[in-house]
Amino acid sequence: MKQALLEEQALLEKELGGVAVVDSENPGGFVGKEPNMNDDNPADVLEQGHEQEVFSRNQAITNDLETRLAHVKQALASIEAGTYGTCHTCKEQIDTERLAANNAATTCINHSD
Ligand SMILES: [Zn+2]
Repeated sequence: MKQALLEEQALLEKELGGVAVVDSENPGGFVGKEPNMNDDNPADVLEQGHEQEVFSRNQAITNDLETRLAHVKQALASIEAGTYGTCHTCKEQIDTERLAANNAATTCINHSD
């Protein structure tokens, strides 16, 4: 289980590297990569619209990957602490089915966000 989580963590970090850069104002956080705004005619409204779209998409993917990465890191930390597989809120055992669907789950079905 730990190995699978470590692999997922590496994969998520690699994916983040493709769409995001480290947030200079928040080390440890990420922001979506901005498309290069300077290589085209800035008066080209259509092109600007497209770049805005690319940026929005990068930002959305970045947020999603960051959330998943945070969960994986939490799960790894709970393995170290010996609390893996128990709900962080009620301390009950998490359904194995739920864990199988999401091996980074840190809450039971009743306390899922
Ligand atoms: Zn719970």
